[in-house]
Amino acid sequence: MIDNSTRDDLIKLRRTLHKSPEISGKEHETSLRIKQFLSAFEPDELLEYIGGHGIAACFYGQDPGPSVLFRCELDALPIQEVNKLPYASKNKGVGHLCGHDGHMTILAGLAAFISQNRPTKGKVIMLFQPAEETGQGAYLVTQDKRFESKLKTDYAFALHNIPGVQLGKIVWKPDTFASASRGFIAQLHGKTSHAGEPENGKSPALAMANIIQTIEGLPKNETFNKFTLTTVIHAVLGERAFGTTPGEGVVMATLRSWLDEDMQKLTAKAEENVKENCQKYNLSHEIEYVEDFPAAVTHPEALKIFQKVLDTRNFEHEELKEPYRWSEDFAHFGKHAKAVLFGLGSGKLQPQLHNPDYDFPDQLIEKGVEIFASLYLELQNASN
Ligand SMILES: [Zn+2]
Ligand SMILES: [Zn+2]
Repeated sequence: MIDNSTRDDLIKLRRTLHKSPEISGKEHETSLRIKQFLSAFEPDELLEYIGGHGIAACFYGQDPGPSVLFRCELDALPIQEVNKLPYASKNKGVGHLCGHDGHMTILAGLAAFISQNRPTKGKVIMLFQPAEETGQGAYLVTQDKRFESKLKTDYAFALHNIPGVQLGKIVWKPDTFASASRGFIAQLHGKTSHAGEPENGKSPALAMANIIQTIEGLPKNETFNKFTLTTVIHAVLGERAFGTTPGEGVVMATLRSWLDEDMQKLTAKAEENVKENCQKYNLSHEIEYVEDFPAAVTHPEALKIFQKVLDTRNFEHEELKEPYRWSEDFAHFGKHAKAVLFGLGSGKLQPQLHNPDYDFPDQLIEKGVEIFASLYLELQNASN
């Protein structure tokens, strides 16, 4: 679906992006580079600064018809790359170690294809979303005032490369594809006193110990509809001061679930426990949530179109037995469009995502373009 010179340009683009990674919310150069690359394909409209550094290339058909959005991510990770590659990251402590450089290149390739095969009806959007890794970007895009008028579509598709799965093999799943997750932070406030007189202070120590145990035990001690998981990731009590009874404590945990309704219950139970313990030990508290991802749920109608493309185009694919435990903020688009998030194998021996030696395989670029272009053509032909 792409010619040799476009293929070369795409590989060059992927490596340039890889060399200059930027963390979530700071994708300044990356979005400029993408903008330059996309301009050559003369989209009908090029939207900038969507939900931060987001960019969208829009192609419009003359007649009414189905609208579709394809989405990729602009951001890299605050992790030092260890690969010795000519195009290895030149930004210290930052690396494209989740393959978003590859995902962007796939959408750039799709733009190249669409510029040669413009829509006759409906519209097609290639969205380069900021800040996926922190779970903020997709939500901010949906909050942008242009989302409702320009970016809301009937369908939305996105892929993520999956290390450990055979190169180029597509993995998909009805219902939940990737889990909901949220960062839970409980700040406990008591009162310091001399360590020799703990009775004059209010130490959060025992409350913290209970909270940690209870939160870790929630999945097995409460009833949920489907899988849930809690991981206490950080806890601090007082200071390294042997003469002081601690007065402050914090517990952080990541909560996960396959279903959004189970996440609500998990959250409520965790909050309830913090409250009970603070009452018991005479502490005040605050609860905060960060990195909030809904579950990425496959829409049955969009899945039908997706499956038709898989079968008619003979793509190698497999239905997952279980949802992934990780989260993807593409889930937010599933609240506004009939969405499918699917996986594309990046090789059995490929280092796992976020590992310091990860590098997106260039062979996947064309495969990704082919899948998205086939979905686009299917939708263009569907209502004929
Ligand atoms: Zn990632
Ligand atoms: Zn990723």
